Amino acid sequence: MTSTTPPSQPPRRLSIVIPVYNEEAGLAPLFARLYPALDQLGESYEVIFVNDGSRDRSVAMLREQFQKRPDVTRVVLFSGNYGQHMAIMAGFAQCRGERVVTLDADLQNPPEEIVKLLKKMDEGHDYVGSIRLNRQDTAFRRIASRAMNSLRERITHIQMTDQGCMLRAYGRDIVDAINDSREVNTYIPALAYSFAHNPAEVEVEHEERMAGESKYSLYSLIRLNFDLVTGFSLAPLQVFSLIGIVISLLSFAFVVLLAVRRVLIGPEAEGLFTLFGIAFFLIGLTLFGIGLLGEYVGRIYQQVRQRPRYIVQAILEKKDDK
Ligand code: UDP
Ligand code: MG
Repeated sequence: MTSTTPPSQPPRRLSIVIPVYNEEAGLAPLFARLYPALDQLGESYEVIFVNDGSRDRSVAMLREQFQKRPDVTRVVLFSGNYGQHMAIMAGFAQCRGERVVTLDADLQNPPEEIVKLLKKMDEGHDYVGSIRLNRQDTAFRRIASRAMNSLRERITHIQMTDQGCMLRAYGRDIVDAINDSREVNTYIPALAYSFAHNPAEVEVEHEERMAGESKYSLYSLIRLNFDLVTGFSLAPLQVFSLIGIVISLLSFAFVVLLAVRRVLIGPEAEGLFTLFGIAFFLIGLTLFGIGLLGEYVGRIYQQVRQRPRYIVQAILEKKDDK
């Protein structure tokens, strides 16, 4: 059955939220491993797939899976591609679990590892992140990730050993707080961390992408990292203020030096290309600063327009859980 009303069914213990974007090649193996792993947990669960505007057979496959397991499956269909983090947002808005686990659809996060996160939560943590053992990604991704990870560690208050791993478990309070925050450009693991009062991390296995290829181009990876940095820190802006102060002081000293030199030795005409060098460096720095400012301003603009963050075309769910 299709509906667009908010969830009306009784709460479940566990919700699994999975964003799906053009994953036709990997969905069958995902279903084959995910459901048995969840059945084994012995608690009531629901799986929420959020189709992020796939243009391949993913929707048809999700529909089929919903018909096979309508009691534990719900499918949210977006009308376009709004990005992985918006898809997770929509899943959070729909899910009813006391605990919510997010997972990638490409089987890079083994479903068998979910139990580890839940065990950690049983110890009283409201947020359990994960650290990928033997990360199976390209060398470029691993190195870039490590660099961004350590930059984030320095400029935000968010402490995560491995920010890129989406296999994470969130308590109901955190999911509610995320639902209330209505962020447009965000990074869910970091947002959740900022709401958590007792976060923890566990190590999980990581596998190679089952099928298909990464849905992140270099450009979308850069955008995502800007979301992370601008969304959780003003440090980049402050760094520019500091650079500005230092350069002003140096220039002042230089002007004084030139004035004294002019009186004592006379005018100087040498050093033309040194001047070019310095000028180009400063122009570059200024442009970078303006661009950075634009990243913040653009995000403020998107947020204040208050357009719907995503448009849900349909939700496949069983109406009554009796
Ligand atoms: N994804 C999405 N929308 C997008 C890009 C990705 O819903 O615009 C989903 C994708 O289907 C997968 C997860 O987000 O379930 C992670 O994507 P991917 O595996 O391509 O990223 P990577 O592992 O390369 O970081
Ligand atoms: Mg992946």
